[in-house]
Amino acid sequence: MFCEVYLLDTPYHIDRPFDYSCGASLTPGNIVRVPFGRAGGTRLGVAVKVKDECEIPEGVTLKSVSAVVSPIFTLTEEMLGLCRFLKEFTLCTFGEAVRTVLPPGALSESLNVRYRKTARLLLDREAVATLLTETGRRGIRSEGQRTALRFLMDLGAAEVDILKQLPGVTPAHISALRDKGVLAIDEDEEIRNPYADYARTRDTSEIVLSRAQMAAYETIDSLYSENEPRAALLYGITGSGKTKVIMKAIDRTIADGKSVIMLVPEISLTPQTVSIFCRRYGERVAVIHSSLSQGERLDAWRRIRRGDVDLVIGTRSAIFAPLDNIGMIVIDEEHEHTYKSESDPKYHARDIASYRCGKHKALMLLASATPAVESFYKAKTGAYTLVPLRERYGGARLPKAVIVDMREELRLGNPSPISQRLYNMLTDVKENENQAILFLNRRGYSSHISCKECGEVLECPRCSVSLTFHSHGGGAMLCHMCGYRMPTPRACPSCSAEALSFLGFGTQKLESEMSKYLPEMTLMRMDADTTQGKLAYDRMLDDFRAGRADILLGTQMVAKGHDFPRVTLVGVALADTSLHVTDFRAAERTFSLLTQVIGRAGRASEEGVAVIQTFQPNNETIRLACRQDYDSFYEGEIALRRELSYPPFCDMAQLTLTADDEAELSRAADTLSAMVKAKLDGEYANLPFVVYGPFEAQIYKLNEKYRMRMMVKCKLNARSRKMFSELLTEFAKDRKVTLAVDLNPLTV
Ligand code: ADP
Ligand code: ZN
Repeated sequence: MFCEVYLLDTPYHIDRPFDYSCGASLTPGNIVRVPFGRAGGTRLGVAVKVKDECEIPEGVTLKSVSAVVSPIFTLTEEMLGLCRFLKEFTLCTFGEAVRTVLPPGALSESLNVRYRKTARLLLDREAVATLLTETGRRGIRSEGQRTALRFLMDLGAAEVDILKQLPGVTPAHISALRDKGVLAIDEDEEIRNPYADYARTRDTSEIVLSRAQMAAYETIDSLYSENEPRAALLYGITGSGKTKVIMKAIDRTIADGKSVIMLVPEISLTPQTVSIFCRRYGERVAVIHSSLSQGERLDAWRRIRRGDVDLVIGTRSAIFAPLDNIGMIVIDEEHEHTYKSESDPKYHARDIASYRCGKHKALMLLASATPAVESFYKAKTGAYTLVPLRERYGGARLPKAVIVDMREELRLGNPSPISQRLYNMLTDVKENENQAILFLNRRGYSSHISCKECGEVLECPRCSVSLTFHSHGGGAMLCHMCGYRMPTPRACPSCSAEALSFLGFGTQKLESEMSKYLPEMTLMRMDADTTQGKLAYDRMLDDFRAGRADILLGTQMVAKGHDFPRVTLVGVALADTSLHVTDFRAAERTFSLLTQVIGRAGRASEEGVAVIQTFQPNNETIRLACRQDYDSFYEGEIALRRELSYPPFCDMAQLTLTADDEAELSRAADTLSAMVKAKLDGEYANLPFVVYGPFEAQIYKLNEKYRMRMMVKCKLNARSRKMFSELLTEFAKDRKVTLAVDLNPLTV
């Protein structure tokens, strides 16, 4: 027999299947070790095809597969298909795709699998008693064996590890008993599941939906029942109870004997959701995310593969969970950027979900209060079914939002980052024994440091971004891109004047200003700096919910989906921070973030208020977010995208060149530009491409490497992908500069 094998670690330009001879037991999807190269070494690969015949060139002897490794991670037919899809769709290597669909560690030689052995008596009590009393050849004389037998007589079965601890009993005794046919040894894989505890406090109470929720559910249910690939967008305003509708749909799918994948943007940000789902679906849930240990992830994967799981909850990579018979894939908060992978394969979970739903004839259910513009467009144009949920659950009203003009505050001589209005409202919250959330999209103390004499701004020596001052631990300058850290200089490194000033403010400075102006209020700060450690984040949320602080202050961590019944006021310290980015999605991101934050206020019986501080009080995006008016935002945004030709009206491809050396980089940029031009003048002349650049990347220098880019507006299809694939292949010859292609990147 012969087989075709893709090597797992191979550069893109030579990534193709190689022929080997193999034994008859090999199946497609087997991970194999094969000889490769002249030096007699071996490499890992995956068999993608097994065949009876193979054309072998004259004078060549085909090498044969050395071994099959990790048989429990043999790829199924569907997974092989997924790998092919990933390779074609995102231009990665087959090996990168394989590593993505398998859990990390699956391919390591020392597999992290534990077994539990149980000795089980094959004879009944009487027969054992006879054995123990009988003398001569038919009886059992060895003291060790007799001890083990006496122990088993009462229990019927016991773990081998326990038997071995009995006085005088050795492993040899136990094997001897097995050989005599007295007992059998069962081997069970030991499976770690850190979420198993939730199953003990099961909550299977019936979900009673409101009328609006019921209507949404019924639409979803009828789509599901078509048993064809379908896609729906559950567009529900904040507080409308999307989770309950999703749960009902999951109940229904599982009752139908099918399985479900539910993706969430970040597990650590949704401890409540995870616990609710684990308690509802008990042992039949697997949770997959990157803070699990490697062993835990492997075990979760194996439970799924064995068919022990109906519902997989997880972050992006859980989209590859090896479930059979998928009935529905849910992507909660589908607009979140975490669904797009930034490293190869640069896939979007939505595309994978759509592919898998196609294979399984399943329903893809996207949910969001602020859908990605691309998704809403698909819903409006019929590719997805739009399932709107336009009222808040239980009659809760949308928060009232007020905009505060911070320029006016400055004019009135208020230097603090808290306006008079917000200050008064915070004081009221305290008086009424309610709670407030204060949001600022920037961590650290000050956003940059500059010299008042010469204007120098302190930059990271490894990146072209300014350093942020962090006040904790005696104070240090930190690069948010690469993590570089240095002590704060006394004087300007450029002109030596002792005139450094700290400009802009982050969460740390806001915290210290707040405690100055509102000393009677208890603050809790939540950002990447205060939530390190596995449970820090959960603990903070619990503490806040229990009322141990008046104000929760922090970065977008405070904005996401939490449900705090006592929060009646939400303040946005500065709404402008994400507006100035040149990215065409800046408005969309700002709108979504502000809507989420504002939606945190007044979710229970009390009406909430949101205060939005800004230097651009007339900005349309801010105004619409204050009204929670996604529809109008979308109308404006889609018109703009149509006019300027941005997604969804075209696709985009981002070509990034990276090099250690600036001169090499600029040479490579010329080469790439010429290559693209030649293709568009030649073979690909009829492709509707608009090419921009090469230009320096927004962050030109990142971690000691320089980067230049080209941006292409195009229509992605097999042909244009082929062209990008050729570019990657041709560019691979360059040893000093690397080219990466990101199709439909989320940040440009
Ligand atoms: P969303 O995610 O759409 O912003 P949530 O799912 O957080 O909204 O719902 C808001 C609040 O209303 C939550 O406390 C939730 O438990 C409650 N809720 C929503 N629907 C129901 C329902 N059908 N039955 C009971 N409580 C509900
Ligand atoms: Zn840096």
